[in-house]
Amino acid sequence: MKCPICDGSMERKKVPYSIGGLKLGNFEADACSCGEIFFTETSSDAIDKKAKEKGLWGLEKRGKVGYSGNSLIVRIPKKVAEFMNLEKGGDILVRPEGKRRLVIEVE
Ligand SMILES: [Zn+2]
Repeated sequence: MKCPICDGSMERKKVPYSIGGLKLGNFEADACSCGEIFFTETSSDAIDKKAKEKGLWGLEKRGKVGYSGNSLIVRIPKKVAEFMNLEKGGDILVRPEGKRRLVIEVE
């Protein structure tokens, strides 16, 4: 199998997969040296199953940045809030990790 991103050759191997920093395990995938990883269909099913078992299913959500007054607003999906025990009025610490990652810590 050729990598659709860089056209390099892909290697079938076990690759670790995690959601929200929690490891789900190693799963069979086609991996390229450019960093592109495609999990096999069997692995995708296994990942879904594991994620559901651990209550991590559907925690990743895409969203858009909104704004209110002078602040930008990022909506936190209900499932994520529940998973992290986030509540209205709760204290958080917002910290950028580089230009592409924003970390919210629950205090
Ligand atoms: Zn590649």
